[in-house]
Amino acid sequence: MTRDEIRELAAFQADESKGACALSFYFQPDPPQDRSHRREAIVAKDVVKEALKSAAASGKNGSLHADLDRVLGLAASLRGNARGKAVFACSAQNFWKEYELPPHLGSTHIYLQSRFQLKPLAALLGSQPALCVAVVDRQRARFFDLRLDQLREGQALVHMLSRSASNYGFKGYEGGHAERRVAEEALQHFKAVSERLLSEFEKHVWERLIVGCQDANWPEFESHLHPYVKKRLIGRFSADVASVSNEEIRGRAGNVLNQWITEYGSAKVNQALDFAKANGRGVTGLRRVLQALEAGEVQTIFLGENYSSPAVECPHCGHLDAHLIKSCVACGRTTRELSDVCDAIIPIAIKRDIELFTLKDHEDLDRAGNIAALLRFRSDQSTGQIEMAS
Ligand SMILES: [Zn+2]
Repeated sequence: MTRDEIRELAAFQADESKGACALSFYFQPDPPQDRSHRREAIVAKDVVKEALKSAAASGKNGSLHADLDRVLGLAASLRGNARGKAVFACSAQNFWKEYELPPHLGSTHIYLQSRFQLKPLAALLGSQPALCVAVVDRQRARFFDLRLDQLREGQALVHMLSRSASNYGFKGYEGGHAERRVAEEALQHFKAVSERLLSEFEKHVWERLIVGCQDANWPEFESHLHPYVKKRLIGRFSADVASVSNEEIRGRAGNVLNQWITEYGSAKVNQALDFAKANGRGVTGLRRVLQALEAGEVQTIFLGENYSSPAVECPHCGHLDAHLIKSCVACGRTTRELSDVCDAIIPIAIKRDIELFTLKDHEDLDRAGNIAALLRFRSDQSTGQIEMAS
């Protein structure tokens, strides 16, 4: 799933005047320890059938019915699927997209709204950096892009070594000479890998780095990494380039990433809460977050895992209000009620590239109303970007 695809989902609006409806379906597979029960497909079918019934009851037929039928067919085929799945559909506007997702979607659910429901997706991807996974040994380097569990491989770098020192089979001058040559070649290879990483980082190909290599090679390889690149390194796992499978790379890099997101998100929300008390570069509570969002000041939004709140939205100017007022304070038009303000906040965050963290069991965020934001530096305040220890 690319950023552009996510933006397309965030920008989608069903034309309700023509009876169109945006259908979002999320499939959560059973956890691995329950896999033998295979309840997941039955749950998925029930969820869709329930939606069909309520759509029929409320007189929403036609294209929505066709979409639901198609999702029902798909749900039946999900038995035994180990990965999560999402479908976004609106056949009235010729829209149908399916995505494989990491199996951490909470529950199987279907939403019929005027916009696609992106909350489960946002919880997965909001804080996901553009990630490079480099798997390296003394002569090979493979480069991957990892996003939402999808691993894409780029061009590898291979510097086949001269016959290895041990193959010479001679002690003394010959052997020592060969060993030095091999060491020199490995050094050149590590330098080339480091240069490639630096150049791609500078071209914004990736924002964060995970390295997979044998423990024995790490100190030497690390010593060649440019300081800028090293600063972006979020973790390392042990791997042998020759034998590691893509599945293992995805799993191990995914674990490193998830741990980092949790720690990084938690450090950042603490900073936002401290700033909210001290210097104004952080805000808490829905009302203030909405104000900051409208003023274009928000850099990062933090939501408690189950945060939800009603609000109103102005269909004319887009103003969002935590007070359930009938007419818009900005333009005076009639507002419409949102049962959950996240349905409006999340698409805005995606469209504007605002970082979004969904945090589980964070006591201080809970006390602050389960919603907070870190603001960009204002022109009247000190310089520099916020740097987080990684
Ligand atoms: Zn308005």
